[in-house]
Amino acid sequence: MSKEQDTESRRRFLKVAAGTAAAAMVVGSLPRFARAADLPAVTDADPTAKALAYVEDATKSTNAKYKKGDDCTNCQFYSGGPTGRGPCQLFPGKSVNAKGWCVSHTKKA
Ligand code: SF4
Repeated sequence: MSKEQDTESRRRFLKVAAGTAAAAMVVGSLPRFARAADLPAVTDADPTAKALAYVEDATKSTNAKYKKGDDCTNCQFYSGGPTGRGPCQLFPGKSVNAKGWCVSHTKKA
């Protein structure tokens, strides 16, 4: 993963998140790193989840950008374990499913 791709991926996220005031408030008000066990799960109703087409089960994604085999565990924004839930930098203060996916998926270098 080049720095340029990383920057581009973050830019894409920020562009989407900018459309949701609630997401912007969450980004600004929560600690960046929290223990995964303490984090509430991202829900379908979450505005950022909707904006990023997040799904709890990557294999169920109908998004054109989804590539088979991609999920949160091989995304550079995920810092959890291989199963269960863990933190994602794009959902501060929440946990995503290890087997989830969203349009900002960026393969780990
Ligand atoms: Fe976060 Fe990556 Fe999972 Fe999207 S695919 S929710 S950016 S860890």
